[in-house]
Amino acid sequence: MRKEIILLSIITGLLITINNKTMAQEFVFPDLPYAYDALEPYIDAQTMEIHYSKHYKAYHTNFVKAAEDNNITDKSVEDIFSKISTYPAAVRNNGGGYYNHMLFWQIMGPKAGGEPTGKLLEKIISDFGSFENFKTEFENAAKTQFGSGWAWLVVDAQGKLFVTNTPNQDNPLMDIAPKKGTPILLLDVWEHAYYLKYQNRRPDYVSSFWNVVNWNKVSDLYLKAIK
Ligand code: MN
Repeated sequence: MRKEIILLSIITGLLITINNKTMAQEFVFPDLPYAYDALEPYIDAQTMEIHYSKHYKAYHTNFVKAAEDNNITDKSVEDIFSKISTYPAAVRNNGGGYYNHMLFWQIMGPKAGGEPTGKLLEKIISDFGSFENFKTEFENAAKTQFGSGWAWLVVDAQGKLFVTNTPNQDNPLMDIAPKKGTPILLLDVWEHAYYLKYQNRRPDYVSSFWNVVNWNKVSDLYLKAIK
């Protein structure tokens, strides 16, 4: 094929992608917003690199493919999740894997940790009794999720916070979730997220997590969820 034709095909492909407005950003694989070693020593660089560039990349690629195969590239992920029980397993597993990880990278960061402030802290204290009580409940959800899954802090339809866990790549936006709402904090407890550094010691990984939580981002997500 001539160079000009190859170039034209690439440009045409790109235009089709860009014109798909609701899922346009899903087609672009973004860079991690910080270095792989930025969460050391709590989450090691090798784990981050494999998790992001292999596991997350695979979910991203497979979700785009599943969306194309099922003709749902014109829908938002939230819309897809709200009817997930009507879609094939490839959409549920890869869509969840894509979305959950995308959120997970955002709510962590370097120079993070500590406690939330402002409205989010007030709401945590009001709904859980104290920040310490909330942490204990969240850690228990993460430790007791049998097998692979996620622990969550979620805002329900009435604006109340609750903690839950889900198996595999399910999430609280999905119609199959036992308790539904808008997630604002989550922790990946699949072994791929911690095994290289922590091996079988999931509880140590879970308690280390607080050192890398970007509470500013979690607060932004909370304020957006109650709007
Ligand atoms: Mn993961």
